[in-house]
Amino acid sequence: MLYRPDNFNDFIGHKSITRFCLNHIFKNTLPNFLIIHGSSGVGKTTLARLLALALTCTGNIKPCYECEHCVSAKNSVLANNNGTSRILLFKVSADYKGESTKEMLQHFNTNFIPPTLNKVILLDEAHQMSPQAQDLLLIDTEFLPTNLYVIMITTEILGLRETVISRAIEIKLDTLSNNELLLLLKKEANRRNLIIEQEEYTFSAIISWAENKPRRALKVLEAMGENRTLSFSRINEFIDFVDPSMFIPLVTSLSSEGFILGIQSINDLKFDNLTCKYLIDFLIDCIKIKNGAKKFNIPNKILIQIKESIKNIDIKLIARFLSGVSKHKVLSRNLLISEYLRIHPSLFSSIEISASSLLDEETRIKTLSSNTDTVSALEFKPKSDLENIQRGAIIMQDLPPTLENLLKWQK
Ligand SMILES: [Zn+2]
Repeated sequence: MLYRPDNFNDFIGHKSITRFCLNHIFKNTLPNFLIIHGSSGVGKTTLARLLALALTCTGNIKPCYECEHCVSAKNSVLANNNGTSRILLFKVSADYKGESTKEMLQHFNTNFIPPTLNKVILLDEAHQMSPQAQDLLLIDTEFLPTNLYVIMITTEILGLRETVISRAIEIKLDTLSNNELLLLLKKEANRRNLIIEQEEYTFSAIISWAENKPRRALKVLEAMGENRTLSFSRINEFIDFVDPSMFIPLVTSLSSEGFILGIQSINDLKFDNLTCKYLIDFLIDCIKIKNGAKKFNIPNKILIQIKESIKNIDIKLIARFLSGVSKHKVLSRNLLISEYLRIHPSLFSSIEISASSLLDEETRIKTLSSNTDTVSALEFKPKSDLENIQRGAIIMQDLPPTLENLLKWQK
């Protein structure tokens, strides 16, 4: 089962919100109607449940985890997804219409509990309520008993009527910071007795892949089980993380005089379909960076590095490279080299290389060398220097070719 923290100490992130709520619970001044919203997996349900525990606790420190209600709530609400007599859990589904809403609203009273005790109603997926149901709810939330708390949880606050939102206190949970997630993953790895090789790097890969959402990140460790030593590559089989900074030399060399650096960096890529997908993502991100976009799904450290590296590269060059590579369904290393050379401004602006002829050639070579599925430029015996260059195989020959020679070949 996916781990959910059962106390505020283990609830990582959202510190100021937590402090705000607990302060008000302590002073008995928390508003009776809250809406907790934010994208999925950021901790909304966990926060709502922990707050419900604090609100219904009869101990001095809230939640105390020792009073009668805390003990029963810990076992049912936190551990088993069940309500208690004073914490009611509702999950709204799309077919939640008037009748079921009326039924639910019957619980919006505190008739059967002493006025000194609180009751909490948690409405998960609240945006799924129909507009009519929300109208009904509005009537009932106008005058909530002072010891009744209603907490709505939603990923889509825009699915709620403005009148409902205006009546509640909105609590927005953002995704966690890299440091908070790092802490979370370390704790979880510890709890599972997992030893992670290259820990910092592996964790930052998980964080990037999980888009900084704790639930998504924790699921990776959950999938790894317990009591094991894990390598980065083992975890990477699960998350398919490719460090985008490996493409930096490829793009930065577009503006340089020589193209050797670019071809070398293509040679260094561990080439598979996955790499191609990430290269295209990377080029799109470069264009977004150039256009001043703000949101990226890249670890911050790497993003800064990319921004700095490509600041002198013409966006048109990147776009042309992207247009070249993205037209291939499968991008082999050789095709990438030819696309790279095709757009390199210092050399090949006018040489047109037919992609299909390269593909044909590659297929031919693959059939010849049956016991390996990778074809390197080395195995290819070029017919002419020009063909050699077109295939990007020049790196294996005398380097670098002079511009005059290249122009001679062009004729
Ligand atoms: Zn308690």
